[in-house]
Amino acid sequence: MAKRDYYEVLGVAKTASDDEIKKAYRKLAMKYHPDRNPDNPETEDKFKEAAEAYEILSDSEKRSMYDRMGHNAFEGGRSGGGFGGGGFSAEDIFSQFGDIFGGAFGGGGGRGQQRAARRGSDLRYVMDLTLEEAVHGVKKNITFTAPASCDACDGKGSKNPQDVQTCPTCHGAGQVRMQQGFFSVQQTCSTCRGQGQIIKNPCGKCHGSGVMDRQQTLEVTIPAGVDNGDRVRLTGKGQAIRDGEAGDLYVEVVVREHEIFQRDGADLYMDVPVSIADAALGKEIQIPTLDGRVSLKIPEGTQTGKMFRLRGKGVKPVRTSMQGDLLCRIVVETPVHLTARQRELLKELQETMDGDDSKSSPKKKSFFGLFD
Ligand SMILES: [Zn+2]
Ligand SMILES: [Zn+2]
Repeated sequence: MAKRDYYEVLGVAKTASDDEIKKAYRKLAMKYHPDRNPDNPETEDKFKEAAEAYEILSDSEKRSMYDRMGHNAFEGGRSGGGFGGGGFSAEDIFSQFGDIFGGAFGGGGGRGQQRAARRGSDLRYVMDLTLEEAVHGVKKNITFTAPASCDACDGKGSKNPQDVQTCPTCHGAGQVRMQQGFFSVQQTCSTCRGQGQIIKNPCGKCHGSGVMDRQQTLEVTIPAGVDNGDRVRLTGKGQAIRDGEAGDLYVEVVVREHEIFQRDGADLYMDVPVSIADAALGKEIQIPTLDGRVSLKIPEGTQTGKMFRLRGKGVKPVRTSMQGDLLCRIVVETPVHLTARQRELLKELQETMDGDDSKSSPKKKSFFGLFD
């Protein structure tokens, strides 16, 4: 099923402020929240759709990516062999729902437990690539420091597993329920501060947190055809937490500008300088592509601005099977630093052309003809 536009989902204008987006989402979330519509798959889908739209539009970075690339920016999902960002799970939606409502709604039984499942934050690493690397794909090592599982206590928070005990107040849920007016309010357990566990003899190295900052080096495989903003996901390489799943690490691609080629999706553009003699008489010239040189036949009488399309010499973007083209824009170069001989020849040419422009310079003739 084709995805609806996120702005349309929330019913806001493309220019909506953060506040308007938040308000619109809040309204929809209240309306479609599963607690208010038990066992109604239709409202649940609507709820998820709104949550997804809000996740993107409330994040200025994701929003600008979406504005530029639409749903393509987040295609791929979690099953796509690790490539691509986005992807939504129930946990994401409910944890985010918690953010906006401060936990005022308790989920129904099963859901409450899902929310309690702990997960570390996702991390982002920006990787700088040359155009060649982005087009052909590359393997690169990245080194970064992030919270990783403590090696002294194996991430448990204490050397002796017996010293890690289930919190007696919340029985491990990390949350306690309290009645407040009409609502049953869920609050973070104050005994264990939401951890669900109490550690008697904390590990000396991580002080019971189970994690410590560690420098790591990972090899990242960038698939061929990536472009600015594309992300590669490394599952479980994000922030580690005690007693929970580590987040993911997203490697986001930034492509450096190339001296010759400009990329636009699958196509590459380049300017090809050509001498006036070659442009006037025609010539087969050698031009660079990202896969070595190829020859380009410049026909007689080629003008500046003329575009030649070399099919299949562009880029194959990572998400499509279509190979783009290389578009060559001819720029006729006026000769400089002339030798005496060249000057002589050009003078001679000038004299032959001064008299009659109608044939050799049709544009010039019609242009100046306007003033006659
Ligand atoms: Zn430790
Ligand atoms: Zn507790």
